[in-house]
Amino acid sequence: MNGNRSVPSRAERLRASATLHVFYGGIDLMVGSRFVPHLRSLERSQWYSREALLDLQNRKLRALIRHAVDRVPYYERAFHGIGLSAEDIHSVPDLANVPILTRESVQNHFHDLTSDDWRRRHPVVNATSGSTGVPLKYLFDRDCVAMGWACLFRSWEWDGYRMGDRRALIRGTDFASKGTPLHERIRRHVERNLVLSSHAMGPTQALQYARAISEFRPTYVRGHPSALAAVGKAMLSNALALGGVRAVYTTGEQLTARQRMLIEQAFRCPVRDQYGLNDGGALILQCPASDAGLYHIIPERAIVEILRPDGTPASPGEAGEIVSTDLHNYAMPFIRYRTGDLAVMEDQQCSCGREFPTIRRIEGRIISAVKRRDGTRVTGLVLSDAFEQLVLTRQDCVHQYCIVQNADLSIRVLVVAGRGYDDTVTNDIKQTIWSHVGKGIDVGVERVPEIPASRNGKRRYVVSHAA
Ligand SMILES: [Zn+2]
Repeated sequence: MNGNRSVPSRAERLRASATLHVFYGGIDLMVGSRFVPHLRSLERSQWYSREALLDLQNRKLRALIRHAVDRVPYYERAFHGIGLSAEDIHSVPDLANVPILTRESVQNHFHDLTSDDWRRRHPVVNATSGSTGVPLKYLFDRDCVAMGWACLFRSWEWDGYRMGDRRALIRGTDFASKGTPLHERIRRHVERNLVLSSHAMGPTQALQYARAISEFRPTYVRGHPSALAAVGKAMLSNALALGGVRAVYTTGEQLTARQRMLIEQAFRCPVRDQYGLNDGGALILQCPASDAGLYHIIPERAIVEILRPDGTPASPGEAGEIVSTDLHNYAMPFIRYRTGDLAVMEDQQCSCGREFPTIRRIEGRIISAVKRRDGTRVTGLVLSDAFEQLVLTRQDCVHQYCIVQNADLSIRVLVVAGRGYDDTVTNDIKQTIWSHVGKGIDVGVERVPEIPASRNGKRRYVVSHAA
């Protein structure tokens, strides 16, 4: 699916194919990964029927469960404890019999969750700070990385991406403190990437990046939505023209309606939101063919369930927690892992013709869902969209904000105000929040000079400390 992209010349096709095979094939050989075979197989399986996709998942699931019960003490015990054997898990619906894996279990059972043959999988050790501030350390197979990139690569191909197309990437990594390794520099050169760090993004840096990106003239852009919105804003206010970008991919943070609008306006192209996790392997990517902005669950990478708090599957249209089984992580199997993120299932098929399951919306962290007095919750996305609707209609009103709910349910709204901000805005903010959470909750608005991003460069707009 090439969108409205013109037919590539023979030279272009040759260059793309040569880069793919020589460069990535070489990396595969060096590190023992299978990026090129994964990509080739994914390019075929995207057109499988729903039955064939389920069959593929079932085969991967059976192999994973067999491995987990035989070689991972945690699962051996868990299965034994409830009288379950590996043979009882024959297909995806049988997964409902397997207990849920929580973040706390991964933290407390690192060694028991590690397979006895982990060494031969050359695992990558990852540690995420996460929303709770408690780091989560876990392993995943080196091949998981290759599979994950192959899935993303395929999704860029949906927008016509070919190896060697120029890309501008804004990443959360702090290059200043870590430096750039040689292989990464070679990769940037071959892939023709401009790589920027969103680590200390402020107005000055946003303008520098806007200039650098305009000069670089990328075909694709990728980064955290908050960083891209800041750069987009700098582009618009400095009339930095940018033509020829085919798509902007947002990742790593909740994308708000205002950010999407701003980024689309500045980069003059559609935004594709992409949700992906290393812990659990869930990959949920917005499809370019869908007018409704539907997302696809990538079924070859992981089995994704959307569950209610009681563990039953959420109905289409209802928000539920993303629970993920990584089909490619054998070093430390994540089976039915609770991600702490909410999504809304969709029952409509996507117009692209792929029979992948569809998702209507990603609603963000459960921890960002604000609690009402009656115990019900309003998701962070609903609240941030309402908030942005309000401040969008006013010129230079709010530059940054964060809505924080305390344990006693009271809410503090931090705003970095612009020139157009006055007391009526404070009042309107309170009214808007009350219209969603009820008047019984105390709401205060506080003007602050800045709201720093977290250490990994990510921004959160709604945080709830209510249990
Ligand atoms: Zn689609």
